[in-house]
Amino acid sequence: MKAQQTANGRLADKVVLITGAGSGLGQASALRFAEEGALVACVDLSESTVAVTADKIIGAGGQAIALGADVSSAKDAERMTAATIKAFGQVDVVFANAGIGGPGNAMDLEEDVWDRVIDVDLKGVWLSSKFALRNMVARGSGTILNTASIGGLVGVRGIFPYAAAKGGVIAMTKQLVVDFGPKGIRANAICPGTVPTPLVTDTYVARVKAAGSTNIEADAQAGLDEMAKKYPAGRLGRVEDVAALALFLASDESSWITGQAINVDGGYTAA
Ligand code: NAD
Repeated sequence: MKAQQTANGRLADKVVLITGAGSGLGQASALRFAEEGALVACVDLSESTVAVTADKIIGAGGQAIALGADVSSAKDAERMTAATIKAFGQVDVVFANAGIGGPGNAMDLEEDVWDRVIDVDLKGVWLSSKFALRNMVARGSGTILNTASIGGLVGVRGIFPYAAAKGGVIAMTKQLVVDFGPKGIRANAICPGTVPTPLVTDTYVARVKAAGSTNIEADAQAGLDEMAKKYPAGRLGRVEDVAALALFLASDESSWITGQAINVDGGYTAA
């Protein structure tokens, strides 16, 4: 039986499962979706981390649960989907957003780094909707959002395995639409440019550390400031920029938009 929601909004009554909801883009989206009336299953590696997001939603009068799961494990993905259905009755939207950075180039990259990045950033995106698809297909309705990246569309130096995974996410999204569009399922990929979340700032810190910086924080910030200059919009992204696109794509307002990779990148890929 589907849970009852009293709030109004652009996602009223929709049950949304968001992975990577403990931080960055996923957390901002979970909070934004809840403001618009969604019932939100917040998933992250550790239940205690993601409970912060769920508690904020509940504190603001919304409905949410916190679930710990590793999206690269089929067992965990099946469990998080079952827990969502148990709590809220169904899954209307999966936002497969969890991800890790993937530094390296084709010559120096170690095999274990490749394997983990592909496991989380590519296989984890597939597994995040695999089990929910059964529920969606049975009801003839569902929406999948997959977080890709501009790195899956254009070359960005030093992110070889990440780019491979994100390019795969875009291809997988199109495949989902061809296979399941006739059964009422929409799917789109979101391709953000640089948004200084922990995933990004950790990468910049690691880079300046490796270069022998003695003023790590300032040098990492200087790197981000340099990157911002490459964006025609004149700034890096904010988590709210991505959450706004995710909200639109999750809602029925975008009901004829499917199979697309949509950039939210301050014009980076236009330059
Ligand atoms: P973030 O590090 O702030 O958040 C990512 C979250 O995913 C973390 O809470 C982390 O614990 C979780 N996570 C990692 N591995 C997981 C796993 N195996 N199972 C479950 N949860 C896991 O980073 P973010 O920037 O918010 O990243 C969100 C998504 O956006 C990622 O897919 C990332 O690749 C993508 N992205 C980010 C940017 C950017 O500039 N921030 C740009 C393009 C794409």
